[in-house]
Formats: sequence, C-alpha cells, structure tokens
Amino acid sequence: MEHVKEFGEEPMTRKDDYYNRAKQQGYRSRAAYKLKQLDSDAGLVSDGDTVVDLGAAPGGWLQVASELVGEGGTVVGVDLQRIDSIDGVETIRGDMTEDETRERIVESVGEADVVVSDMAPNMTGEYSLDHARSVYLARTAFETALELLAPGGDFVAKVFEGPDTDGLRADIDEEFEYVRTIHPDASRDASSELYMVAKGRLTAPVRAGDRIEVDIDDVGREGDGIAKVEGYTVFVPDAEPGDVVEIEVTDVKPRFGFGEVVE
Ligand code: SAM
Repeated sequence: MEHVKEFGEEPMTRKDDYYNRAKQQGYRSRAAYKLKQLDSDAGLVSDGDTVVDLGAAPGGWLQVASELVGEGGTVVGVDLQRIDSIDGVETIRGDMTEDETRERIVESVGEADVVVSDMAPNMTGEYSLDHARSVYLARTAFETALELLAPGGDFVAKVFEGPDTDGLRADIDEEFEYVRTIHPDASRDASSELYMVAKGRLTAPVRAGDRIEVDIDDVGREGDGIAKVEGYTVFVPDAEPGDVVEIEVTDVKPRFGFGEVVE
C-alpha cells in the first residue's frame, strides 16, 4: 500500500486544513482533494475525457473531474442522493446495485475513459459488515467499469480495508494492465479506506501465461513477427511470416501484446 503523506502535520490539523481549503476553494467536499491526489499520483483524467463518477454526491469529485476534462470532456455523476447541478455535468439519480441504473448510464455515456467510485455504505459501526458492504459496492462499480470502459481506460474504487480486499484486488488485476492501492493524504488518518487504482483496461482475447498456436503473418518495425488473435496484435520475436508456432503470451497491453515461441 502506498501512503502519500505530508510530514510534520498532526492529523487534526490536516483534517481541518482540507476542510478549510475545500470551503475556500469552492469545493463541495473535502473528498475533492482525494481525487486530485489520486489523479496526480496515477495520471487518470486527461483533457477531453469522458468520466463516470459513481457515488458522486454532493459533487466534490465531479467538480474536480470537470476541471480536468475541460470544455471538450464529459462528466456524468450517479448517486442515490440528488446532486445540485454543476455546469456541464450530467447527473443521474439511482441505485448502482440496480440494473436499471447501470443501463441508464450505458445509454447516456456509451463508452468512458475513466470510471471512478467513491461509493460508501451507511456505516453501522460493525467492522465486518461495513467492510463486506463496501466490497460489494466496489464490485458493483468494477462490473459497471467493465461494461463502460474503452480499451486502455482507468478505474478507481474506494473500499474499506479487510479480509476481502485482496480477492477484489486480484479480480480487478485480471482485467487491467496493473492495479495499485493508494491511501490518499486527504483521507482521514484513522480511516480504513483505501482506493484501488487500476490502469489500462484490457480487452485482449489473451492473458499473460496463455499458450496458443498462432500464424505469423506480418513483420513489425523492430523485426518481430506479428500474429493476429481475434484481431488483437501479438508481437513474437524470432518468428517470421509463414511460421506456425506455439507461443506463450508474456505481456498484454490494451492494444497489443508480446509472446515467446515455446520450443
Ligand atoms: N465523492 C463524493 C464527493 O466528492 O462529493 C463523495 C461521495 S460519498 C463519500 C459516498 C456516496 O456514495 C454517498 O453520496 C452515497 O449516497 C453514495 N452511494 C452509496 N451507495 C450507493 C448506491 N448503491 N448507488 C449510488 N450511490 C451510492
């Protein structure tokens, strides 16, 4: 887990600092700084992107996302609660655990570059229950992200740390180039919340470790053989057009991958 900390500050000071900063800078929540920190750490949102924000009320993340995407971008926020309007941001009121809400988002957005979720359950104070509910919401966000994200797209979800966090992380890791867990400085110190930050949605028909037989039908600029697997490009060093070879897939990127000939 990574900790992005400012040294020499007491927790209370920091908490008040973010609260006051949010008030002064016109953000609706101190949570706004968490998205700013996640974005500067992991490079999530670019100019012109389409961003979907799940669990978006009161709208701090929406304000930050809207600044980051600029005028050419699109931001859509979803929450159980009503969200006061923000210029250029579309809001949907609905429950993310219901199919109908997910269908409304797909209809409205089509495809997204980034899906972020700050959804949190109503806290009961019973640790294992709160943890299980937060994992359920993060999984709901993950499934929505798989429906919405373009190849190479990024995903963020809040989760309260506990026994099911590792399983969730492993499942997310399967579908992205890589996943990190980040505890932003703007999160309260005592909080067990962390963010799964997954980069590079993979839509490739292969995964690292797969062994497959391929036809080499072209050669790349670096001299590697090129095989197409259901339209997906796999570069294979030491193979030439006309070869039919068994390869082990060694690396999978959103738009192309690499394989090695199995002797
Ligand atoms: N990121 C927000 C901001 O910057 O203002 C704060 C989000 S707040 C921590 C968590 C939100 O998740 C709440 O507004 C809550 O209503 C929402 N939420 C919880 N469960 C949800 C669900 N099933 N569907 C939609 N939203 C949900």
